[in-house]
Amino acid sequence: MREVISMQIGQCGVQMGNSCWELYLLEHGIKPDGSRDEKFSNVDSNDDSHHTFFSMTDSGKCVPRSIFVDLESSVIDEVKTGPMRDLYHPEQLISGKEDAANNYARGHYTVGKQIIDQVMHRVHKLADACDGLQGFLVFHSLGGGTGSGFTSLLMERISTEYAKMCKLEFAVYPSPKVSTAVVEPYNGVLNTHSTFDHSDCVFMVDNEAIYDICHKKLSVDRPNYQSLNRLIAQVVSSTTASLRFQGSMNVDLNEFQTNLVPFPRIHFPLVAYSPLISADRARHERYSMQSLTNNCFDSGNMMVKCDPRQGKFMSCCMLYRGDVVPKDINAAISAVKADRNIHFVDWCPTGFKIGINYQKPTVVPGSDLAASERAVCMLSNTTAISAAFSALNAKYDLMYHKRAFVHWYVGEGMEEGEFAEAREDLATLEADYEEVASDSNEAEQDEEY
Ligand code: GDP
Repeated sequence: MREVISMQIGQCGVQMGNSCWELYLLEHGIKPDGSRDEKFSNVDSNDDSHHTFFSMTDSGKCVPRSIFVDLESSVIDEVKTGPMRDLYHPEQLISGKEDAANNYARGHYTVGKQIIDQVMHRVHKLADACDGLQGFLVFHSLGGGTGSGFTSLLMERISTEYAKMCKLEFAVYPSPKVSTAVVEPYNGVLNTHSTFDHSDCVFMVDNEAIYDICHKKLSVDRPNYQSLNRLIAQVVSSTTASLRFQGSMNVDLNEFQTNLVPFPRIHFPLVAYSPLISADRARHERYSMQSLTNNCFDSGNMMVKCDPRQGKFMSCCMLYRGDVVPKDINAAISAVKADRNIHFVDWCPTGFKIGINYQKPTVVPGSDLAASERAVCMLSNTTAISAAFSALNAKYDLMYHKRAFVHWYVGEGMEEGEFAEAREDLATLEADYEEVASDSNEAEQDEEY
């Protein structure tokens, strides 16, 4: 058994996580009350793919291995009264009384401290009930006070107590289009700095990129959080499919990391997905394996706004689902390798890791994304993603130059020095990306001078 525990933190984490569970239910043939759906044709009675994410009660009910946390109660209250209210264990829906007011320091120091022991108690209970816990998936925003501050507090505790377990994050990157607070760049930088050593891999999802995909590719006039979250859920599902379903070439959680993270700090893979097509267009179009694969290198299919052609790839994991044939995949990848616009660092053999799962993608009825017979999700480590950090740092600098809003953080007991330290760390990250992008012989030449 290879169980995984999911942690959903703050409004964004809770709502995004809820959309993921909505999709997992359909994928595993589970009804919203946790009972198995007998009509479900995809899964036979011997199938135990749901055990990774769900535990079973004696009466045969599936319960998510999942904890939802928010420092205030309104968002969790919606989950408690929503369509999946009977699915979750009530003690795993944890909310406090005082919110983090968009302030990392409240989430990390003052308000967060009051609730962390209760949350860790639930983590211990869930972990103790696993036979072979593989790791943790943590969902949160980088911009929110709870999402940034409480998440980093939680990651510190988890990494101390479960040092050997894998810790992956799905983190929503703040975007001015969908942003709710001016201080989000502070929260994002502080969170990234304080979780660096406690996280193995962070899959960033840029709300602006997702918004544009929904608007331009899925023809949604004004995408709301539900539209964004359902698309994010599709990507999370593909990323985690190999943990749940058997496949001829299954890529495990540890294998991902080994292939994706060449240096511990360079752990922010870029995620791309294909096909991104609305139900209307799907009736008239069919994607070849080549175009599905090529689309993953198109900036319009990426979950973070950046131009992969301006950077260099270190590694790519291609996770295919559904009706795919290895021969076609190999041909498609060979063509990508030959494309002169796609650059790889010269110190790494042009490595593509391929994963195949034969379960075709599922979509939640009413989703903007069309159902498809096959799909591919690419997780790549590219230096292009450093553009996201540069943009965040630039916004941070604008405010910090005037020490604007800093008193709110200091008032919650945070040392002002943490601001400078965090920013310096992010500057080092940008420099790290530049260094890995430089060719090996350039580096040698530099050393000679
Ligand atoms: P917290 O509860 O204090 O962690 O605050 P939030 O989670 O609301 O953080 C604010 C950031 O999260 C902003 O950048 C929002 O645009 C983003 N956000 C909030 N809710 C959602 C959501 O349901 N989906 C997505 N994709 N982003 C969200």
